[in-house]
Amino acid sequence: MESPILVVGGGAAGMIAAWRAAQLGADVTLVEKKGRLGTKILISGGGKCNLTHAGTMQSIEAKFRPNEGRFLRPSFYRFTNEDFLRLLTERGMEVYTRPDGRIFPVPPTDAKDVVAILESHLRDAGVKTLLDTPVAGIHIENGAVHGVELEGERFLPSEKVILAVGGSSYPATGTTGDGWKWMSSLGHTIVPLRAALAPLYLDPTPPAEWSGIALRDAVLRARRLNADGIIGKERMRWRGDMLWTHKGVSGPTALGVSREIAEAIPENSIVEADVAPNEPQDALTEKLLMFCKDYPRRNVSEFIGSYVPERLVDPLLLSASVPPTTKGAYLGQKERNRLVAVLKGWNLGRVRHVPLERGEVVAGGIALEEVDAQTMASKRISGLYLCGEILDIAGPVGGYNLQAAWSTGFVAGSSAATPS
Ligand SMILES: Cc1cc2nc3c(=O)[nH]c(=O)nc-3n(C[C@H](O)[C@H](O)[C@H](O)COP(=O)(O)OP(=O)(O)OC[C@H]3O[C@@H](n4cnc5c(N)ncnc54)[C@H](O)[C@@H]3O)c2cc1C
Repeated sequence: MESPILVVGGGAAGMIAAWRAAQLGADVTLVEKKGRLGTKILISGGGKCNLTHAGTMQSIEAKFRPNEGRFLRPSFYRFTNEDFLRLLTERGMEVYTRPDGRIFPVPPTDAKDVVAILESHLRDAGVKTLLDTPVAGIHIENGAVHGVELEGERFLPSEKVILAVGGSSYPATGTTGDGWKWMSSLGHTIVPLRAALAPLYLDPTPPAEWSGIALRDAVLRARRLNADGIIGKERMRWRGDMLWTHKGVSGPTALGVSREIAEAIPENSIVEADVAPNEPQDALTEKLLMFCKDYPRRNVSEFIGSYVPERLVDPLLLSASVPPTTKGAYLGQKERNRLVAVLKGWNLGRVRHVPLERGEVVAGGIALEEVDAQTMASKRISGLYLCGEILDIAGPVGGYNLQAAWSTGFVAGSSAATPS
């Protein structure tokens, strides 16, 4: 008889892996540390759950770094965005696609309903679930899996284990990086862990009253800060919304540039915002000139108010060394140039920290060369399969990370359930 399969970690990848293996007839037990399944799914997309992204799997693959995309390709074709959505829609959930391609459940359904439907698939497939059961380690003999050790010196024997314990951000959701400690001690290479899709803590800290102010459609650029304090080359840019927090900036733009900053020396980066991304510098200069000509008695702050929320108008003027009460008629050429330069690249400060624990995903993890992309089997330990965020994969915001978890989970479940 085939060995029972243990799936460690009841998150996105683990639930799909367990369901798929049981669907193929395997005897499957899903072991989860927390008191419920899918804790991180519940907070995904602010509880709305950005399930996946629309488009071809080729276009989804292209959103990952080239080595990650190549690794994911076989899984993406085995279990596509549409395959995943079918699991939900066949149980009555409706989904919709936002103009930017992100797919969500139609309100009032949300992440809770996603987890509930996945649980119903697990039940129907006959998966046994052990909640409140933290795994303490994987037991290996002669290079092959023999089972998992539970806390309290209990042991669950199995010759096939799927490890889906996720990363280490938002540790309260159960993900505390356990898998990387075990795998490193068992000979797997762990690519250094870095924050990705994380907020940026800035120096100077923004004034407390800015916290909660949102900027719609800006380009946030991260630039290198050279040793001599001169602002240098651009590292990364991201267009979208931005949000000030009490420690710095967050929102899609900040998350979008965070991985590149975390991979460099974060403190050697500054971030600057282009608050007029649709207008080239020359056109903006011309527009400001016309404003001053047409409205010589009006404050220039009125012009700035069409680009940033009211509370930011004076600070932006001050960063260009333009007194906030300056009238159109009195804005000299040098001041005008400085103002346009700030509108196109407002220096928000030096990055003080990119907090890994606040990231939506962790970049780094189990080296992809050590995992078979066709099966998710470890190339180092026989009987061990790896899927989801434990792998060295981190996609951008947009449903890409959950899709990577669904697809790799499906392949891990399929391979573990297939007699070798
Ligand atoms: C705030 C936030 C919002 C996000 N929003 C989105 C979004 O909208 N769309 C998107 O695509 N991605 C989003 N993500 C990313 C996405 O949630 C993850 O990429 C995905 O959940 C990873 O799936 P996983 O199965 O690998 O890990 P997880 O879903 O994190 O599951 C791992 C599971 O393993 C369990 N576990 C850990 N250690 C042990 C142990 N020792 N023993 C037993 N069990 C253990 C954990 O408790 C957890 O349940 C978001 C992430 C965060 C933090």
